[in-house]
Amino acid sequence: MQKPKGTYDVYGDLGKQIQYIEKVIGAMMEKYHYEYVRTPIFESKELFHRGVGDSSDIVTKETYDFQDRAGREMTLRPEGTAGVVRSFIENKLYGRATLPVKTWYYGPMFRYERPQAGRYREFYQFGVEVFGSNDPLIDAEIISIPVNIYRFLGLKGIKVKINSLGDEESRTAYKKALKEYFKPYVNELCEDCKVRFEKNPLRMLDCKVDHEKEIMKNAPTILSYLNKESEEHFKHLQDYLKAMEIPFEVDETIVRGLDYYTHTVFEVEADIKEFGSQKVLCGGGRYNQLVETLGGPSTCGVGFAMGMERLLSALEKENITFKEESLDCYLFALSENEKEYVAYLSNLLRMNGFSVTMDYNQKSFKANFKQVERLNPKFVLIIGEEEVKDKKITIKNNHTKKEEKIKEEHLIEYLDEEIEM
Ligand code: AMP
Repeated sequence: MQKPKGTYDVYGDLGKQIQYIEKVIGAMMEKYHYEYVRTPIFESKELFHRGVGDSSDIVTKETYDFQDRAGREMTLRPEGTAGVVRSFIENKLYGRATLPVKTWYYGPMFRYERPQAGRYREFYQFGVEVFGSNDPLIDAEIISIPVNIYRFLGLKGIKVKINSLGDEESRTAYKKALKEYFKPYVNELCEDCKVRFEKNPLRMLDCKVDHEKEIMKNAPTILSYLNKESEEHFKHLQDYLKAMEIPFEVDETIVRGLDYYTHTVFEVEADIKEFGSQKVLCGGGRYNQLVETLGGPSTCGVGFAMGMERLLSALEKENITFKEESLDCYLFALSENEKEYVAYLSNLLRMNGFSVTMDYNQKSFKANFKQVERLNPKFVLIIGEEEVKDKKITIKNNHTKKEEKIKEEHLIEYLDEEIEM
């Protein structure tokens, strides 16, 4: 049996690397005072069609759709925003007294893409969604999150690229200009772009096929179509980023693959030569109409999603690994007779905050010390007949090689002191 195409298994060092990053993300979200949210992995198909947009590649070509046993049309989530917005509306979080509502999520997403480096069919995203504020200070704050996570993990060469798609009025003016510009060239474009020309000409700028064509390169750019309010929004965002000492560049080619963005859009790239298109580690933007589109009251929103897999390969390219948390105690019994006491002690130690593993197979003394060499615990606790009788445990400090007999009632205190030394 083999895993499905475009998926991967996690074990060994990869598992440690992932768990460390997950901890960093959780800790960072506490510092930013964001709340954790979790939504179902499958939702109604309609949610993604309305939420992500009918003209995006994600929805037109890449969803895993299925009918459940009652014939309902379902979709495995291809991204996190639509579900979080649905939950925000359904649970009436817009009614909270403490707006904005700042949320974060983490979990698997599914897209039927052609698997290649940095592109999987099941992949993990960490993302944030903030509801109820149009203040560009929030846009700057959420851009600072991936930047600070990458910095904390030690990734160098991070590039932040920002752009603005303006508000509805600005985008309507821009779309009109794009249509006029592309009209004479429609027949030279790919089949998808012909559809995009009708449905949403902004999408054409994101085309992977026509990307290199001169007509694309010379197309009008959005920033000259921003109205005054949109211009102000974008200017303030840049001022806040400067104040937060986050270097960035304005890149008018960034329009992002989803239909719902307004004002700010951004991407964070790893500056790694051989990374190609997978250099985009993270992307996001503002979506001031999405809550309303999905049936909620008019509420501003802004968010981003970062891919775990690309972050892992960027760390690998830069040889950044995170050390495994070390093991505190390894326990073994000299015979079957003392195993119950070992079971008791392991529980006592774990409940007092020590990490513990033990001999489960009644290995020989020699084989147990071989295992100690591999696992490198701080302490080895050896339990024989006498230890059980006297409730005195033989403890070997595996690093200093000091060996002592300690009464059970002093065990925790002793280990705490030894660890501090
Ligand atoms: P998107 O949701 O398309 O804006 O993507 C946001 C981030 O998710 C990207 O920058 C990638 O890091 C990651 N990502 C998107 N699609 C995939 C995929 N098929 N495989 C792995 N990572 C992905």
